[in-house]
Amino acid sequence: MPELPEVETIARDLRPLASGRTISAVRIDWPRIVAHPDPEAFVAGLLGRRILGVERRAKWLLLDLDGGSVLAIQVMMTGQLFVVPAAAPADRHVHLLIDLDDGRQLRLRDMRKFARVGLYRRDPAGRVLRDAGGREPGDVFARHGPEPLAPGFTLARFRERVRARRGRLKPLLLDQSFVAGVGNIYADEALWRARLHPLRTVATLRPDDERRLYRSLLDVLAEAVERRGSSIDDYTAPEGDGEMQDHLQAYQRTGLPCLRCGRPMRRITVGQRGTHFCSWCQRLPAVDRAGAAPLLSGQRNRSADEARPGPRWTELAGEGTLGLTPDEAARAAAKTRGGAGRLAADAAKARAERTRRAAETRRRNARAGAGA
Ligand SMILES: [Zn+2]
Repeated sequence: MPELPEVETIARDLRPLASGRTISAVRIDWPRIVAHPDPEAFVAGLLGRRILGVERRAKWLLLDLDGGSVLAIQVMMTGQLFVVPAAAPADRHVHLLIDLDDGRQLRLRDMRKFARVGLYRRDPAGRVLRDAGGREPGDVFARHGPEPLAPGFTLARFRERVRARRGRLKPLLLDQSFVAGVGNIYADEALWRARLHPLRTVATLRPDDERRLYRSLLDVLAEAVERRGSSIDDYTAPEGDGEMQDHLQAYQRTGLPCLRCGRPMRRITVGQRGTHFCSWCQRLPAVDRAGAAPLLSGQRNRSADEARPGPRWTELAGEGTLGLTPDEAARAAAKTRGGAGRLAADAAKARAERTRRAAETRRRNARAGAGA
Protein backbone atom coordinates (compact mmCIF):
# COMPACT_ATOMS: atom_id res chain seq x y z
CA MET A 1 0.00 0.00 0.00
CA PRO A 2 1.44 3.34 -0.98
CA GLU A 3 2.67 5.32 2.00
CA LEU A 4 4.27 8.75 2.30
CA PRO A 5 7.30 8.03 0.03
CA GLU A 6 5.20 6.42 -2.68
CA VAL A 7 2.58 9.18 -2.77
CA GLU A 8 5.35 11.79 -2.64
CA THR A 9 6.93 10.14 -5.69
CA ILE A 10 3.63 10.18 -7.59
CA ALA A 11 3.24 13.88 -6.72
CA ARG A 12 6.76 14.69 -7.93
CA ASP A 13 6.23 12.78 -11.18
CA LEU A 14 2.85 14.34 -11.75
CA ARG A 15 3.92 17.93 -11.04
CA PRO A 16 5.73 18.67 -14.33
CA LEU A 17 3.19 16.63 -16.33
CA ALA A 18 0.04 18.29 -15.00
CA SER A 19 0.98 21.76 -13.74
CA GLY A 20 -0.20 24.56 -15.99
CA ARG A 21 -2.60 22.33 -17.92
CA THR A 22 -6.31 23.07 -18.22
CA ILE A 23 -8.89 20.31 -17.73
CA SER A 24 -11.00 20.00 -20.89
CA ALA A 25 -13.05 16.85 -20.20
CA VAL A 26 -13.70 14.37 -17.38
CA ARG A 27 -15.05 10.85 -17.58
CA ILE A 28 -15.92 8.51 -14.71
CA ASP A 29 -17.15 4.97 -15.18
CA TRP A 30 -17.49 4.17 -11.47
CA PRO A 31 -19.48 6.88 -9.62
CA ARG A 32 -18.45 5.62 -6.17
CA ILE A 33 -14.87 6.64 -6.89
CA VAL A 34 -16.00 10.20 -6.10
CA ALA A 35 -15.93 10.69 -2.33
CA HIS A 36 -16.99 14.34 -2.39
CA PRO A 37 -19.21 16.07 -3.54
CA ASP A 38 -21.50 14.07 -5.87
CA PRO A 39 -20.15 12.85 -9.23
CA GLU A 40 -22.00 15.52 -11.28
CA ALA A 41 -20.74 18.38 -9.13
CA PHE A 42 -17.27 16.84 -9.15
CA VAL A 43 -17.12 16.79 -12.96
CA ALA A 44 -18.67 20.26 -13.31
CA GLY A 45 -16.21 21.66 -10.76
CA LEU A 46 -13.21 20.36 -12.69
CA LEU A 47 -14.15 21.43 -16.21
CA GLY A 48 -12.18 24.39 -17.52
CA ARG A 49 -10.01 24.57 -14.40
CA ARG A 50 -6.29 25.06 -14.66
CA ILE A 51 -3.99 22.85 -12.57
CA LEU A 52 -1.67 25.15 -10.62
CA GLY A 53 0.44 22.56 -8.85
CA VAL A 54 0.62 19.11 -7.29
CA GLU A 55 1.28 18.51 -3.61
CA ARG A 56 1.10 15.66 -1.13
CA ARG A 57 -0.46 15.69 2.33
CA ALA A 58 -0.37 12.45 4.33
CA LYS A 59 -1.21 9.76 1.75
CA TRP A 60 -3.28 12.12 -0.41
CA LEU A 61 -2.38 13.83 -3.68
CA LEU A 62 -3.61 17.40 -3.89
CA LEU A 63 -3.93 19.15 -7.24
CA ASP A 64 -4.58 22.84 -6.64
CA LEU A 65 -6.83 24.38 -9.27
CA ASP A 66 -7.42 27.98 -10.17
CA GLY A 67 -10.42 29.45 -8.37
CA GLY A 68 -9.30 27.94 -5.06
CA SER A 69 -10.52 24.39 -5.48
CA VAL A 70 -8.44 21.25 -4.88
CA LEU A 71 -8.68 17.93 -6.68
CA ALA A 72 -7.73 15.28 -4.12
CA ILE A 73 -6.76 11.76 -5.09
CA GLN A 74 -6.25 8.87 -2.69
CA VAL A 75 -4.68 5.97 -4.53
CA MET A 76 -5.29 3.72 -1.49
CA MET A 77 -4.22 0.07 -1.97
CA THR A 78 -4.04 -0.41 -5.72
CA GLY A 79 -4.69 2.91 -7.50
CA GLN A 80 -2.22 3.94 -10.21
CA LEU A 81 -1.90 7.28 -12.00
CA PHE A 82 -0.60 7.76 -15.51
CA VAL A 83 -0.42 10.67 -17.94
CA VAL A 84 -0.72 9.34 -21.48
CA PRO A 85 -1.80 10.51 -24.94
CA ALA A 86 -5.60 10.79 -24.91
CA ALA A 87 -5.85 8.45 -27.90
CA ALA A 88 -4.03 5.57 -26.19
CA PRO A 89 -6.32 2.60 -25.53
CA ALA A 90 -7.23 1.93 -21.90
CA ASP A 91 -8.40 -1.27 -20.23
CA ARG A 92 -11.53 -1.67 -18.08
CA HIS A 93 -9.64 -0.87 -14.87
CA VAL A 94 -9.20 2.79 -15.78
CA HIS A 95 -12.07 4.45 -13.92
CA LEU A 96 -11.29 8.15 -14.18
CA LEU A 97 -10.02 9.97 -17.27
CA ILE A 98 -9.18 13.66 -17.14
CA ASP A 99 -8.38 15.31 -20.49
CA LEU A 100 -5.66 17.93 -20.39
CA ASP A 101 -5.43 20.73 -22.96
CA ASP A 102 -2.14 19.39 -24.39
CA GLY A 103 -3.76 16.26 -25.84
CA ARG A 104 -2.83 14.04 -22.96
CA GLN A 105 -4.97 12.42 -20.33
CA LEU A 106 -4.56 11.84 -16.60
CA ARG A 107 -5.80 8.31 -15.92
CA LEU A 108 -6.59 6.67 -12.63
CA ARG A 109 -6.45 2.90 -12.88
CA ASP A 110 -7.51 0.69 -10.00
CA MET A 111 -8.16 -3.04 -10.26
CA ARG A 112 -9.81 -3.19 -6.86
CA LYS A 113 -11.68 0.11 -6.90
CA PHE A 114 -10.41 1.32 -3.51
CA ALA A 115 -9.11 4.64 -4.85
CA ARG A 116 -11.12 7.79 -4.12
CA VAL A 117 -11.18 11.28 -5.56
CA GLY A 118 -12.78 14.46 -4.28
CA LEU A 119 -13.14 18.12 -5.01
CA TYR A 120 -12.52 20.42 -2.07
CA ARG A 121 -11.52 24.02 -1.59
CA ARG A 122 -8.48 25.68 -0.11
CA ASP A 123 -9.00 28.43 2.47
CA PRO A 124 -6.60 31.39 2.86
CA ALA A 125 -4.83 29.55 5.68
CA GLY A 126 -4.03 26.68 3.32
CA ARG A 127 -6.45 24.20 4.84
CA VAL A 128 -8.37 21.84 2.56
CA LEU A 129 -12.08 22.15 3.31
CA ARG A 130 -15.09 20.00 2.62
CA ASP A 131 -18.30 21.98 2.12
CA ALA A 132 -21.05 20.63 4.32
CA GLY A 133 -24.17 22.09 2.73
CA GLY A 134 -24.47 25.35 4.63
CA ARG A 135 -22.98 23.98 7.85
CA GLU A 136 -19.47 24.79 9.02
CA PRO A 137 -17.08 23.38 6.37
CA GLY A 138 -14.87 20.58 7.68
CA ASP A 139 -11.07 20.46 7.50
CA VAL A 140 -10.29 17.28 5.55
CA PHE A 141 -7.02 16.81 7.46
CA ALA A 142 -8.24 17.87 10.90
CA ARG A 143 -7.51 14.43 12.34
CA HIS A 144 -4.15 13.96 10.66
CA GLY A 145 -0.91 14.30 12.55
CA PRO A 146 2.04 16.39 11.36
CA GLU A 147 4.16 15.63 8.29
CA PRO A 148 7.23 13.76 9.55
CA LEU A 149 9.54 15.19 6.86
CA ALA A 150 8.41 18.80 7.37
CA PRO A 151 11.14 21.06 8.82
CA GLY A 152 9.06 21.79 11.92
CA PHE A 153 8.86 18.14 12.94
CA THR A 154 11.70 18.21 15.46
CA LEU A 155 12.78 15.62 18.00
CA ALA A 156 11.21 17.77 20.72
CA ARG A 157 7.90 17.78 18.87
CA PHE A 158 8.10 14.01 18.32
CA ARG A 159 8.82 13.40 22.03
CA GLU A 160 5.90 15.56 23.04
CA ARG A 161 3.57 13.53 20.82
CA VAL A 162 4.96 10.16 21.92
CA ARG A 163 4.64 11.04 25.59
CA ALA A 164 1.00 12.00 25.13
CA ARG A 165 0.23 8.49 23.93
CA ARG A 166 -0.25 4.99 25.33
CA GLY A 167 -0.16 1.59 23.75
CA ARG A 168 2.28 -0.34 21.57
CA LEU A 169 4.69 1.10 19.03
CA LYS A 170 3.46 -0.60 15.85
CA PRO A 171 -0.17 0.56 16.12
CA LEU A 172 1.06 4.00 17.21
CA LEU A 173 3.17 4.46 14.07
CA LEU A 174 0.25 3.36 11.89
CA ASP A 175 -2.07 5.85 13.59
CA GLN A 176 -2.43 8.72 11.10
CA SER A 177 -3.32 11.13 13.91
CA PHE A 178 0.10 10.49 15.49
CA VAL A 179 2.16 11.25 12.38
CA ALA A 180 0.82 11.36 8.83
CA GLY A 181 1.81 9.06 6.01
CA VAL A 182 3.44 6.11 7.78
CA GLY A 183 2.07 2.67 6.88
CA ASN A 184 3.01 -0.95 7.37
CA ILE A 185 6.25 -1.02 5.40
CA TYR A 186 7.98 1.98 6.95
CA ALA A 187 6.65 1.30 10.46
CA ASP A 188 8.39 -2.11 10.38
CA GLU A 189 11.53 -0.60 8.84
CA ALA A 190 11.75 2.25 11.36
CA LEU A 191 11.29 -0.12 14.31
CA TRP A 192 13.95 -2.53 13.01
CA ARG A 193 16.40 0.32 12.46
CA ALA A 194 15.69 1.70 15.92
CA ARG A 195 16.00 -1.79 17.47
CA LEU A 196 12.58 -1.44 19.09
CA HIS A 197 10.09 -4.29 19.36
CA PRO A 198 6.79 -3.59 17.56
CA LEU A 199 4.82 -4.68 20.64
CA ARG A 200 6.79 -2.52 23.02
CA THR A 201 4.64 -0.04 24.94
CA VAL A 202 5.27 3.68 24.72
CA ALA A 203 5.54 3.92 28.51
CA THR A 204 8.77 1.88 28.51
CA LEU A 205 10.65 4.15 26.09
CA ARG A 206 13.68 5.93 27.43
CA PRO A 207 14.81 9.26 25.95
CA ASP A 208 17.42 7.49 23.85
CA ASP A 209 14.80 5.04 22.48
CA GLU A 210 12.65 8.01 21.45
CA ARG A 211 15.60 9.63 19.76
CA ARG A 212 16.45 6.46 17.81
CA LEU A 213 12.85 5.97 16.74
CA TYR A 214 12.59 9.58 15.58
CA ARG A 215 15.87 9.37 13.65
CA SER A 216 15.03 5.96 12.12
CA LEU A 217 11.59 7.04 11.03
CA LEU A 218 12.84 10.21 9.34
CA ASP A 219 15.85 8.46 7.78
CA VAL A 220 13.87 5.58 6.30
CA LEU A 221 11.18 7.88 4.92
CA ALA A 222 13.76 10.22 3.38
CA GLU A 223 15.69 7.32 1.87
CA ALA A 224 12.48 5.84 0.45
CA VAL A 225 11.52 9.18 -1.14
CA GLU A 226 15.00 9.34 -2.64
CA ARG A 227 14.55 5.83 -4.06
CA ARG A 228 11.05 6.57 -5.43
CA GLY A 229 9.25 4.32 -2.96
CA SER A 230 8.78 0.56 -2.68
CA SER A 231 7.25 -1.15 -5.72
CA ILE A 232 6.17 -4.28 -3.89
CA ASP A 233 2.59 -4.86 -4.95
CA ASP A 234 0.73 -2.61 -7.35
CA TYR A 235 2.48 0.63 -6.58
CA THR A 236 4.05 2.33 -9.54
CA ALA A 237 4.41 6.05 -10.30
CA PRO A 238 3.72 7.96 -13.55
CA GLU A 239 7.43 7.85 -14.44
CA GLY A 240 8.01 4.24 -13.36
CA ASP A 241 8.63 1.93 -10.41
CA GLY A 242 10.54 2.68 -7.26
CA GLU A 243 13.58 0.80 -6.02
CA MET A 244 13.26 0.98 -2.24
CA GLN A 245 11.89 -2.60 -2.22
CA ASP A 246 15.47 -3.76 -2.85
CA HIS A 247 16.72 -1.92 0.22
CA LEU A 248 14.14 -2.90 2.83
CA GLN A 249 15.66 -4.55 5.88
CA ALA A 250 12.63 -5.93 7.72
CA TYR A 251 9.42 -5.79 5.74
CA GLN A 252 8.45 -9.15 4.20
CA ARG A 253 11.78 -10.73 5.16
CA THR A 254 10.09 -13.50 7.18
CA GLY A 255 12.46 -16.42 7.65
CA LEU A 256 15.41 -14.60 6.08
CA PRO A 257 18.42 -13.86 8.26
CA CYS A 258 18.29 -10.56 10.12
CA LEU A 259 20.76 -8.24 8.39
CA ARG A 260 22.19 -7.26 11.78
CA CYS A 261 22.45 -10.50 13.75
CA GLY A 262 21.73 -13.31 11.28
CA ARG A 263 18.81 -14.87 13.15
CA PRO A 264 15.64 -15.57 11.14
CA MET A 265 13.23 -12.66 10.95
CA ARG A 266 9.80 -13.26 12.43
CA ARG A 267 6.32 -12.28 11.36
CA ILE A 268 3.36 -11.75 13.64
CA THR A 269 0.02 -10.07 13.11
CA VAL A 270 -0.66 -6.84 14.99
CA GLY A 271 -4.04 -5.25 14.42
CA GLN A 272 -4.48 -7.41 11.29
CA ARG A 273 -1.22 -6.14 9.81
CA GLY A 274 1.72 -8.40 9.09
CA THR A 275 4.57 -7.24 11.30
CA HIS A 276 8.19 -8.16 10.61
CA PHE A 277 10.95 -7.97 13.18
CA CYS A 278 13.98 -9.65 14.73
CA SER A 279 13.21 -10.93 18.19
CA TRP A 280 16.90 -10.78 19.09
CA CYS A 281 17.72 -7.22 17.97
CA GLN A 282 14.32 -5.88 18.92
CA ARG A 283 14.00 -7.04 22.51
CA LEU A 284 10.78 -6.75 24.43
CA PRO A 285 11.31 -5.37 27.95
CA ALA A 286 10.24 -7.76 30.73
CA VAL A 287 7.40 -5.48 31.74
CA ASP A 288 5.82 -5.78 28.26
CA ARG A 289 6.21 -9.54 27.87
CA ALA A 290 3.10 -10.79 29.65
CA GLY A 291 0.83 -8.42 27.75
CA ALA A 292 2.43 -9.25 24.40
CA ALA A 293 2.45 -13.03 24.92
CA PRO A 294 -0.91 -13.79 23.25
CA LEU A 295 0.10 -11.77 20.18
CA LEU A 296 3.49 -13.44 20.00
CA SER A 297 2.53 -17.05 20.69
CA GLY A 298 -0.86 -17.25 19.02
CA GLN A 299 0.65 -16.89 15.59
CA ARG A 300 4.09 -18.24 16.19
CA ASN A 301 3.91 -21.23 13.86
CA ARG A 302 2.12 -19.76 10.92
CA SER A 303 4.40 -21.01 8.20
CA ALA A 304 6.37 -24.21 8.01
CA ASP A 305 9.59 -22.24 7.90
CA GLU A 306 8.81 -20.40 11.06
CA ALA A 307 7.75 -23.59 12.80
CA ARG A 308 11.11 -25.20 12.28
CA PRO A 309 13.51 -24.62 15.16
CA GLY A 310 15.87 -21.92 13.97
CA PRO A 311 19.61 -22.57 13.76
CA ARG A 312 21.94 -20.84 16.13
CA TRP A 313 23.42 -17.63 14.88
CA THR A 314 26.87 -19.12 14.43
CA GLU A 315 25.36 -22.01 12.47
CA LEU A 316 23.81 -19.80 9.85
CA ALA A 317 25.20 -19.70 6.33
CA GLY A 318 25.02 -17.01 3.68
CA GLU A 319 23.72 -13.58 4.54
CA GLY A 320 23.30 -14.52 8.17
CA THR A 321 26.95 -14.92 8.89
CA LEU A 322 27.70 -11.27 9.41
CA GLY A 323 31.08 -10.81 10.98
CA LEU A 324 32.42 -14.24 9.94
CA THR A 325 35.22 -14.78 7.47
CA PRO A 326 34.29 -16.86 4.38
CA ASP A 327 36.10 -19.87 5.92
CA GLU A 328 34.29 -19.57 9.20
CA ALA A 329 31.07 -19.15 7.29
CA ALA A 330 31.70 -22.32 5.29
CA ARG A 331 32.47 -24.28 8.48
CA ALA A 332 29.37 -22.89 10.14
CA ALA A 333 27.28 -23.88 7.14
CA ALA A 334 28.68 -27.41 7.22
CA LYS A 335 27.85 -27.69 10.91
CA THR A 336 24.23 -26.65 10.43
CA ARG A 337 21.96 -29.59 11.22
CA GLY A 338 21.19 -30.96 7.76
CA GLY A 339 21.42 -27.40 6.49
CA ALA A 340 17.91 -26.82 7.87
CA GLY A 341 18.56 -23.18 8.59
CA ARG A 342 19.94 -22.58 5.16
CA LEU A 343 17.07 -24.48 3.54
CA ALA A 344 14.53 -22.40 5.43
CA ALA A 345 16.28 -19.21 4.37
CA ASP A 346 16.53 -20.45 0.78
CA ALA A 347 12.82 -21.30 0.76
CA ALA A 348 12.00 -17.86 2.14
CA LYS A 349 14.18 -16.27 -0.51
CA ALA A 350 12.58 -18.28 -3.32
CA ARG A 351 9.13 -17.37 -2.05
CA ALA A 352 10.04 -13.68 -1.92
CA GLU A 353 11.44 -13.86 -5.45
CA ARG A 354 8.24 -15.46 -6.82
CA THR A 355 6.11 -12.79 -5.16
CA ARG A 356 8.37 -10.07 -6.52
CA ARG A 357 8.15 -11.37 -10.07
CA ALA A 358 4.36 -11.75 -9.94
CA ALA A 359 4.00 -8.14 -8.76
CA GLU A 360 6.39 -6.94 -11.45
CA THR A 361 4.28 -8.59 -14.13
CA ARG A 362 1.16 -7.02 -12.63
CA ARG A 363 2.71 -3.54 -12.74
CA ARG A 364 3.88 -4.04 -16.31
CA ASN A 365 0.35 -5.07 -17.31
CA ALA A 366 -1.02 -2.04 -15.47
CA ARG A 367 1.20 0.29 -17.44
CA ALA A 368 0.04 -1.32 -20.70
CA GLY A 369 -3.57 -1.34 -19.50
CA ALA A 370 -3.50 2.39 -18.79
CA GLY A 371 -2.04 3.10 -22.23
CA ALA A 372 1.37 4.10 -20.89
ZN1 LIG B 1 18.60 -9.31 14.47
